[in-house]
Amino acid sequence: MTNQGVRPGSANLKLRLASVAAILVFAATLLVTLSTLSVAERGMKAVIGDQQYTLLSGAASFMDDRLAARLGQIEALAAGIPPRLRTDWEGLRPFLADQVRLWAADEYLNLVVFDAAGEMRLSLRELPGPGTLNARGTDYFERAVDTHKGVISRPIRSRLTGNHIVVFSAPVLDEAGKVVAVLAGSVDLRRSGFLRQISTLKPGKTGYLFLMTADGIVIDHPDESRLFQHVGSTPGVNQGTDRALAGFEGWLEARSKDGTDSIYAYKRLRSTGWIMAARYPSAEAFAPMDAMRRNAFFSAGGLALAAGLLAWVLVFRLLAPLQDLSDNVAAIRHDGAGIDVLRDGRRDEIGELGRAFHALMAERERAERERAVSEKRLRLITDNLPVLISYIDREHCFRFGNATYEKWFGVSAKKLEGMPLARLLGSEAAADISPHLEQAFGGQSVTHELRIPVRGDPRILQATYIPDHQVDGSVAGVYSLVHDMTHVKEVEEQLLQLARVDTLTGIANRRMFGETLHHALDRARRSSKPLALAYLDIDHFKKINDTHGHGVGDEVLKEFARRLTVGVRATDTPARLSGDEFVVILEEIGTRVEAERIAAKIVDSMRVPFRTSAGLVQASTSVGVALSQPRQAQEQLLAAADSALYAAKGKGRNGYAFFEV
Ligand code: GH3
Ligand code: MG
Repeated sequence: MTNQGVRPGSANLKLRLASVAAILVFAATLLVTLSTLSVAERGMKAVIGDQQYTLLSGAASFMDDRLAARLGQIEALAAGIPPRLRTDWEGLRPFLADQVRLWAADEYLNLVVFDAAGEMRLSLRELPGPGTLNARGTDYFERAVDTHKGVISRPIRSRLTGNHIVVFSAPVLDEAGKVVAVLAGSVDLRRSGFLRQISTLKPGKTGYLFLMTADGIVIDHPDESRLFQHVGSTPGVNQGTDRALAGFEGWLEARSKDGTDSIYAYKRLRSTGWIMAARYPSAEAFAPMDAMRRNAFFSAGGLALAAGLLAWVLVFRLLAPLQDLSDNVAAIRHDGAGIDVLRDGRRDEIGELGRAFHALMAERERAERERAVSEKRLRLITDNLPVLISYIDREHCFRFGNATYEKWFGVSAKKLEGMPLARLLGSEAAADISPHLEQAFGGQSVTHELRIPVRGDPRILQATYIPDHQVDGSVAGVYSLVHDMTHVKEVEEQLLQLARVDTLTGIANRRMFGETLHHALDRARRSSKPLALAYLDIDHFKKINDTHGHGVGDEVLKEFARRLTVGVRATDTPARLSGDEFVVILEEIGTRVEAERIAAKIVDSMRVPFRTSAGLVQASTSVGVALSQPRQAQEQLLAAADSALYAAKGKGRNGYAFFEV
């Protein structure tokens, strides 16, 4: 983490804490206000509903009174007709006209009289058209005849004028109580001002009253297109109206067909069963509530902002010691300040944190020191070992190399870092090494020998590669240990040579003779050219020793070996088997004659006196010769030559003998 990385982290924490505080305050304020408002709204709704229903009931009662008064008027008029005028239609007209004059203007559209058979007998107003009408079957006529009482009709369309009217009718009875005529007054409810009077009771600005019959025919409504239509003829559902048609009286909140919520109140008229209704859109009814809700929202927002700011300041103050701690840690990391400042912090959780940091850092410093000491020790050892120690990555580049690299190749450890193998050792050597390295990257420890020049000297090196296994099983690189084996190899070769050479004479010893004979016999077998084996022994050598001493004997042995060597071809192998016994392997000898010629030549060469430290010494040799046979074992050939030597000695020495089968 960088110094810059610490500060935004803590600022962020402050922002988050302040935001959380602001959100909580906002939510709490809003919740409390809205729930209070909701309780108030329920109460307010009940008050508005009750109030509206009460008003509506008053209006309905007023309407009932008005209707009853009108009906009473018609009934009184019917009852007041003088008996002689009851069926005297022409005489009745002036009577009625006279009575009606007392009434308020345009209270009725018209007054008509029907006879008992329903035939219209007179009309106070001039009728357009032929002007005759039969009321039989109409509700206002039949009910008046049946009940002998006044009747208020359903709203109907006048067959005479085409107007929508309500008819108030009353029977005219004779003395016997028989219906002789029916008096009917038609009223245009809307135009008569009948409804206008109660419409002043409408709720609010957008609310209105409406009136419909018990079966849903709209009598009065602000939307004129709905007049005299069934209330259900506009599409949609209004549960309030549906319930009112089913008999409900009172108030309720329902969704109107245009989708707005409203408070509806319903009340039935006693006189006609008509339903008077009031609608008060909730939007208007609760407009003050909405304003309050908006205010609540804004004040909650303001409170939240204030709380957030307050929380910010408090958190800033509370977190100041944490900031100090973070500054101290940053100073320790980047400016090398001492860690003790962390130990002497406050006596609270932040102080505890500081002390925990202190303990952690102290532990780390200690571990670091120990690691440095151990690394120094290790470095000292690796740098002073006469071994190349390095770490090689998967790109075949050095990642580390000990001081031996500098001693051997003149490349410092620093320069070696990142250097490809091929650059240090040459591409040829790198190509030789590559397959072994790959094997090590495959997970195996590998040892191989390589020959490269070091400071101009050709060297034989032994390299061992140890894979650096990772936790996941992969191999990240390879540890390489390289020893100089040149000296060891030289000694080894010397030892090998020593084991095969006779130390006194410098020619092959018995072991080398055995090996050489083995190979020579193989070659003879393949080429079908036999070889000859000459077995030699110095005559009376004991006497030379006895006469001149062992040292002179040795000198004779050396000279004997020399003469033997120069006397044969370079491809032939002379060897000393033991004491004064010698052999020569003569390869590619075709015939006995040839073999005997060489044997004679050797015998001759030994007759020349030997120059020694004791002066000239006369010596001679006996030679046994045998020719190799196909598929003959080497022991058999040796035994054959030995046997021929025995024969040569037997013949008086200083000569040769050929092995006879
Ligand atoms: P012969 O004609 O029958 O061979 O008689 P000889 O005296 O040579 O008898 P023989 O070959 O058996 O004797 C070999 C002698 O060689 C015996 C031993 O003392 C001597 N001798 C063996 N090894 C060495 C040696 O390394 N140096 C010397 N100076 N003498 C050796
Ligand atoms: Mg001898």
